[in-house]
Amino acid sequence: MSETFFVTAALPYANGPFHIGHIMEYIQADIWVRFQRMQGHRVHFVGADDAHGAPIMLKAEAEGVSPRELVARIAAGRPRYLEGFRIGFDHWHSTDSPENVALSQDVYRRLKGAGLIYSKPIEQFYDPVKGMFLADRYIKGECPKCRAKDQYGDACEVCSSVYSPTQLIEPYSVLTGARPVLRTSDHFFFRLSDPRCVEFLHEWLGQPGHVQPQVANKAREWLSGNGDQALSDWDISRDAPYFGIPIPDAPGKYFYVWLDAPIGYLASLKSYFDSGKARAGGEPRAFEAFLTDPDTRQIHFIGKDIIYFHTLFWPAMLKFAGPPYKVPDNVHVHGFITVSGEKMSKSRGTGISPLRYLELGMNPEWLRYYIAAKLNANVEDLDFNPDDFVARVNSDLIGKYVNIASRAASFITRHFQGAIEYGPDLDALARQAQQVSEQVRASYQGREFGRAMRETMAFADRLNQEFDARKPWVLAKDPARRGQLQDSCARALYGFKVLTVLLAPVLPDVAERVARELFGLELPLRWQDALEPPRRVNPYRHLMTRVEPKQLDALLEPPAEAAAESAPAQKGPAIGQAAASAAQGGVQAPAKAVPPQAQAPPALSIDEFKKVDLRVARIAAAEQVAGADKLLKLTLDLGTETRTVFAGIKSAYEPATLVGRLTVMVANLAPRKMKFGLSEGMVLAASGEAGGPYLLSPDSGATPGMRIS
Ligand SMILES: [Zn+2]
Repeated sequence: MSETFFVTAALPYANGPFHIGHIMEYIQADIWVRFQRMQGHRVHFVGADDAHGAPIMLKAEAEGVSPRELVARIAAGRPRYLEGFRIGFDHWHSTDSPENVALSQDVYRRLKGAGLIYSKPIEQFYDPVKGMFLADRYIKGECPKCRAKDQYGDACEVCSSVYSPTQLIEPYSVLTGARPVLRTSDHFFFRLSDPRCVEFLHEWLGQPGHVQPQVANKAREWLSGNGDQALSDWDISRDAPYFGIPIPDAPGKYFYVWLDAPIGYLASLKSYFDSGKARAGGEPRAFEAFLTDPDTRQIHFIGKDIIYFHTLFWPAMLKFAGPPYKVPDNVHVHGFITVSGEKMSKSRGTGISPLRYLELGMNPEWLRYYIAAKLNANVEDLDFNPDDFVARVNSDLIGKYVNIASRAASFITRHFQGAIEYGPDLDALARQAQQVSEQVRASYQGREFGRAMRETMAFADRLNQEFDARKPWVLAKDPARRGQLQDSCARALYGFKVLTVLLAPVLPDVAERVARELFGLELPLRWQDALEPPRRVNPYRHLMTRVEPKQLDALLEPPAEAAAESAPAQKGPAIGQAAASAAQGGVQAPAKAVPPQAQAPPALSIDEFKKVDLRVARIAAAEQVAGADKLLKLTLDLGTETRTVFAGIKSAYEPATLVGRLTVMVANLAPRKMKFGLSEGMVLAASGEAGGPYLLSPDSGATPGMRIS
């Protein structure tokens, strides 16, 4: 029975290019979409740029362009990535669009009509110089608990305490440095705590299949409020100046970007339907009729960082807005992607650059395969490991899959003019093929892509073993055994065709070439094409090359400035922290931002420099840190006291060689809480193209504790 799906992936924030986290999610969704189409289902797969909000407004302002110009520039770069990785959205739109304005205002009016919107005055910090209210991330000050300086308005990175920005000591605006003042303004709220919402969400979360069990548990925890923290209503408004959608009948008020962002899924679908492209794809209905059809299934792929929005606000908004809006049928949540075990969040956007991957000429289907091989249906992080990548691509795709075709096809074209004929025992192989095809279908259906790849490769192993056991290269020398030669190669090619269909959602290009060039099949490939034994094969043409380890080296070698900016955020008090902190004067957007461009440090007055307390220190002890790749734990003697510092110098120094030597430390750096303990300063070292880090040393005669000026 043919089904109809409306599928989305999370909308990327339009203040920067895609990073590897986006690409992983899109590949996951794209594989699932291609698989469903091969089953004969109708799928509409849409995306859009998430274009609104203060970070985009401020970034545009800093660049001297309008927010729309900034968003348009980012949007212009999208196709390169999407086409590059064979991600086949049917339509790409923007939340800054007439469709989204109309839909967002409509949803709001309906929620208001349902009694789920109210307004109340709230007190918030306001930057009198900039003339705008400040989100927590735009306010810094001293932590009220530990008094660490330069902490953000919501939480302290040193002592991890959480507070409200009004509790900060000596607060200042990150935008202008001005002291913010408290001002009152009316905000609009969505009444998530309404018993109707709570009851509906419990029911929705309780129905199997809507979300993964671990996601339902998390959402229920929030819904029940944990302990002292009751379920809060949702503040959905922001005051001008704001780049967003105006709230009807409320001058100067805009929807918070997170209200109109998910509605952007629907805006993109509507724009797609209105454009007529959907009709070309066999969808004759209008947007409203499509959504209200009980057979339409609405499916969202998202990352674990936005569960709250997609499993509480979003279903409740849709439910109480009423038809034609429909509640999601599935929200599929995935984990983050890490690189060699290092944490990397979607919002920080560090790690592997997808653009660099494409620029290096690396095959997009290698990455698609690798990601598929590591994905399952749980909310687990996926680790990109370069050695593993090389091993899997070369051993699976080249060694097990592509090679079997090149070997078998050349015998058939050379000795039999391309005619494939089978011996008497084809049935057993056909039954095996049928069985593996059913297994793999079930795995794809359940988003167990890793299992689908393992099952597929296990079948490839069997084919290769049989082919090797029959020794066609020996058979080819004996004219009396031509029949056996033809049968052996025919069986291998039949198996290869099965493998091609099973891998087609993951390797669309290779599958299309195999179908068209090698077997002369009609496109697009359908799942049931797997089982039809091929009767002819054309001369084999090269399908895929091996990946070289040096390509991975080139991919992972960070551009110099990117290395500098990612160092402090991820590796604690490593070298380069001072330079990176200097960039904090610029506008740093909150959660959704990409890191600021590294820049040359600005000029510094002597008074500013004097604030840095540099001291001669003796390394009293140096130890390895269990579980740390880059850090050594140093105990530094300052004459009158000792300090513990975690330094990113493990790559260059054996701990034992450091003990007793003198170096230079920043003695008044705010202590920093790290995974391995508290770091109370930093040591200075040089690094550059010639390597490093090289620890600094004072000339002989200096003693621990001496001030450096
Ligand atoms: Zn603190």
